[in-house]
Amino acid sequence: MSARLPRKTMTTATTTDTEKWVCVGVRDPLTTGSRETAACDRCGIEIRWVHVLSRVGGNGVSQRLSTGGCCAARLVAGYEARGAEKELMNRASRMGRFLKPASWKVSKTNPANVWRDCLMPDVTTRQVTVIEKGGLYGVFVAGPKNGDDNRCPYERWADRKSAIEAAFIIVDGVRDEMKARLVTSS
Ligand SMILES: [Zn+2]
Repeated sequence: MSARLPRKTMTTATTTDTEKWVCVGVRDPLTTGSRETAACDRCGIEIRWVHVLSRVGGNGVSQRLSTGGCCAARLVAGYEARGAEKELMNRASRMGRFLKPASWKVSKTNPANVWRDCLMPDVTTRQVTVIEKGGLYGVFVAGPKNGDDNRCPYERWADRKSAIEAAFIIVDGVRDEMKARLVTSS
């Protein structure tokens, strides 16, 4: 990705296009390993978080824009750009805490396995275990105490770190489901 686009090649949208753009995701270029900065496709300013917008153009071809928060909020009706950036930051710090080696314990019954407890939105904890078998790694997220709602994907990962990252995505998904249930039941 080039850091800055020349202004004359920038996409121009008229005000009648406003409602058609949707945001399909937010990225933080710094967390993807590259240290390059990004520029907004719309106004050219250097941006910290990249909001990826998409829409189907008049010719039926889908168009994409990578913009900063201000341009995203202007182009996408009702879009809370700052809220999306904050959620991305929160997720990054949750992931950092989850991955921290010190928070993982070595299994007493099988030293190849590691586990940790995760606090859930309903203040229960779930035990997450990364299991080594035949040189591959699997993930097991235990359900609440009576054993229902276990999450154990069939997928296997080549190294423990990848399995732990996958475990984070699973646990975060369970957290989101729980939050949604807590909201609808209150
Ligand atoms: Zn912009």
